Amino acid sequence: MQKLGVLRVLRGNAFMPMPLRPDQLIRDEIRALSAYHVPDATGLVKLDAMENPYLLPLALRHELGRVAQDAAINRYPDAAASTLKAAIRSSMQVPEGMEILLGNGSDEIIQILALAIAKPNAVILGLEPSFVMYKMIAAFAGVRYVGVPLKADFTLDLDATLAAIHEHQPALIFIAYPNNPTGNVFDDAALLRIVEAAPGLVVMDEAYHVFALRSFMPQLLRYPNLLVMRTLSKLGLAGLRLGFLVGRPAWLNELDKLRLPYNVNVLTQQVAAQVLAHTEVLEQQAAAIRGERTRLMQALSGITGIQAFPSDANFILFRVANADKVFEGLKQRGILIKNLSRAHPQLKNCLRVTVGTADENQQFLTALTASL
Ligand code: PMP
Repeated sequence: MQKLGVLRVLRGNAFMPMPLRPDQLIRDEIRALSAYHVPDATGLVKLDAMENPYLLPLALRHELGRVAQDAAINRYPDAAASTLKAAIRSSMQVPEGMEILLGNGSDEIIQILALAIAKPNAVILGLEPSFVMYKMIAAFAGVRYVGVPLKADFTLDLDATLAAIHEHQPALIFIAYPNNPTGNVFDDAALLRIVEAAPGLVVMDEAYHVFALRSFMPQLLRYPNLLVMRTLSKLGLAGLRLGFLVGRPAWLNELDKLRLPYNVNVLTQQVAAQVLAHTEVLEQQAAAIRGERTRLMQALSGITGIQAFPSDANFILFRVANADKVFEGLKQRGILIKNLSRAHPQLKNCLRVTVGTADENQQFLTALTASL
């Protein structure tokens, strides 16, 4: 018998209670998020996502073609990814005794870390402005996020950070080294004070390592709560989606339980291992990008009305009088960069340009001058 007051609707061919709506079912903190927006770059010079602008040399691409041709894509990938891990170990100076965890991009590793520590009162601490996914993924995992503002010049506010660590006792701290979107590396001695003061894990996110050539990897041996995260994305393999975390087996063995069994697919495993056998190619490209960064920085510094911030990454953050106007002007002239003006109060009127090829950078500079 139908109960009074319960609205029944036709679902398929039966009258059933009305199903819940998204606003009744989906967690409030998820509904409050805006999805990570990836703009359409069709027909534009794409300088918005910190990609490496160069293709691999043709001979190496042919080698990768053969790897793809012979790959057993009818089988699940090697769940332990032993060949790829061995290639990472030898090409990335992973210290003896440290374990490696692979992710479908470092984004997935951030998610694994957040899920692992998501106890009811756990806190994730980040510096702000920094990479937005730390805060977003904290929300995905239902973990409280605390952001500590950087100083106005985007350097680390050590006193404020130590005070926040003391107050909130974070289970996990993310530090991007160099920082995105500001481009700078924080002071090493100050970062070690943070590692020493942290009650939980500190993840040095070294996504832009090849452009800074500074690393906390050797410090893993001295600090039991330190983890180092890297990605192949900025090295020229963004399309493969491969990130990795390095740290003590005691931590990584626990985190590995949260990794979905086949998170790194067959083609990524085999192609990445093959490319890592030619690290000299990636290093040459990174060196070319560093050279272009210097030229781009000099050019930007010479333009009146622009304040460019020093960068150790493959992008440059700069401030203009009216970021929206300049962003739109560039887009109309065929150049896509990133408008960060509304991303954080400290980024008002800031834009971020990825270092491209010499030709792309020149096109950007010409369009920029015309858009100011
Ligand atoms: N960390 C930082 C600091 C980043 O800027 C990015 C990408 N923009 C990532 C991690 C994620 O990289 P991926 O998922 O491609 O490895």
